[in-house]
Amino acid sequence: MFSKRFKQLTPYTPGEQPQNRKYIKLNTNENPYPPSPSVGEFLKTTDPDILKLYPDPASVKLRNAIGEYYGLPSSMIFVGNGSDEILSFCFYTFFDRENGPLLFPEHSYSFYPVYCGFYNIPFQRIPLEADFSISVDTYISEENYCGIIFPNPNAPTGTYLQPEEIRRLIENVNKNRVIIIDEAYIDFGGKSVAALTNEFKNLLIVQTFSKGRSLAGLRVGFALGNEKLISALTTVKDSFNSYPLDTLAQNAARLSIEDIDHYKDNTSRIIETRIFTVKALQEKGWDVLPSMANFIFIRKQGIQGQNLYEKLKGEGVLVRYFGHPGIEDFIRVTIGQKNDMVIFLKILDKHVKTQQ
Ligand code: PMP
Repeated sequence: MFSKRFKQLTPYTPGEQPQNRKYIKLNTNENPYPPSPSVGEFLKTTDPDILKLYPDPASVKLRNAIGEYYGLPSSMIFVGNGSDEILSFCFYTFFDRENGPLLFPEHSYSFYPVYCGFYNIPFQRIPLEADFSISVDTYISEENYCGIIFPNPNAPTGTYLQPEEIRRLIENVNKNRVIIIDEAYIDFGGKSVAALTNEFKNLLIVQTFSKGRSLAGLRVGFALGNEKLISALTTVKDSFNSYPLDTLAQNAARLSIEDIDHYKDNTSRIIETRIFTVKALQEKGWDVLPSMANFIFIRKQGIQGQNLYEKLKGEGVLVRYFGHPGIEDFIRVTIGQKNDMVIFLKILDKHVKTQQ
């Protein structure tokens, strides 16, 4: 009954979304604050009759609003049902096994190998530096590849590459290969390299409304790039589902990107809480990788990662544990509201004491 293709699938394991118990949820990098009030107003006042019709398949108004925000024409903007869907389309559109493996960091977004499996694309994990940062030179020294992808800031480490480094990468790699910078976490102090898409025809930026704009449940992502890349993605979308974004999502996302003040307040609160949390952890001897994201990646000598994850869960705080070789004692902690972080810090202290 099942295809060979299906039997070979290894799906992605998303972070837990428990429905039975109320946790302090610091495990899936959601934003703890509400979206723009204009989104709430729209949902409250919308006539359900608008749902009788199919949505705009080209999401024109939303793409125009994103274009306005970034100073790019809408022909350079693609939108999709979460950036995960866009990434999947990208893997299908740009990466061919005949051209060699796809390069991505050794510790990175665990959906990348899943899409490679789905589309039968070989991949090569590029080691991180000893401090867990991405080294542009390591990518430049590779000769054979069908493309390059990494998040900036990287996940789950949170480390950030400056725009000059991204420029140096693109200037020095194969111009006939697409380079994707996954800016899912760019909203928390990083600088987008969106403007470089005017200069480099092989650069694609992928972003999301899920983090800085508090809309993970709406499922809207977007990509910025040269018209040819965008038009290729549109061909793939239209060969799969012409309406990946429903009418509510298109309108709510547009209102959200237009509310720049809310976005700034929303993201700066997270940055402030990140600074507070990192300082508190460092004072207590925790090893915290420098993060420009809405999460931190932490460990402490003598503390076992899995044990710590389980202890926190038992106390009602969910964090993410990966257990991959090389990062097995780290946990990834989303930055929540300040009072959530205070509770988290207290439980950590209690755990450390029981381990000493
Ligand atoms: N890229 C990275 C690096 C992520 O961590 C995530 C979210 N977990 C995504 C993309 C996808 O985000 P979304 O589908 O919500 O836009």
